[in-house]
Amino acid sequence: MTDFCPVLWPEESTPEHLLDCNECGLDQHGSRMVWGEGNPLAPIMIILDNPGAREDRGGSPMVCGTRQTLQQAANLVGLTMEDLYVTFILKRKPVRAYDKQQVRQICMTHLKQQLEEKQPKLIFCLGNVAVQSFFENAEAEVKALRGEIHEIHGLPTAVGYHPLAVRRRPNLLSVFIEDWNFLKDHYNRIKSY
Ligand code: SF4
Repeated sequence: MTDFCPVLWPEESTPEHLLDCNECGLDQHGSRMVWGEGNPLAPIMIILDNPGAREDRGGSPMVCGTRQTLQQAANLVGLTMEDLYVTFILKRKPVRAYDKQQVRQICMTHLKQQLEEKQPKLIFCLGNVAVQSFFENAEAEVKALRGEIHEIHGLPTAVGYHPLAVRRRPNLLSVFIEDWNFLKDHYNRIKSY
């Protein structure tokens, strides 16, 4: 895409009272909680389904493919980490089978709390799985919803493909960048009000 070099964005700590959260059962999967990353006060909140690992098997920090592609797209359209906060429908990465609908419904209460507290100006929801949870509509699809602003949970929301889908299907790259440009244009409009 460019010679821009992605880095691991700072992680926002999990609130103290939720460090041992076991409400949905994903605590049994062994992956650690990631509350969010980037700028916790950013005007744009990006929502992905789950955090993926920030460390490799040896415990060293790493920037996974999803984070690389996301940051490259942001950089390409002129957005920086200061503009962006990334969080997740699920705060832990599932590593085996689980009750998808129930678990997402449970953890969405934490995301709703984050929305209340942070009051982002704009949401960018990436990937069908995150979109279906966030829109609370099992039929929702990026393909049909992209290129428009939707009012979801009282907040202007744009959608796009998941960065991993773009890595797997490079033909999605131009559409992905279009969606990032759409986000940036809308952000510029609200900034100028
Ligand atoms: S994924 Fe969400 S509900 Fe489940 S244990 Fe983590 S914070 Fe709690």
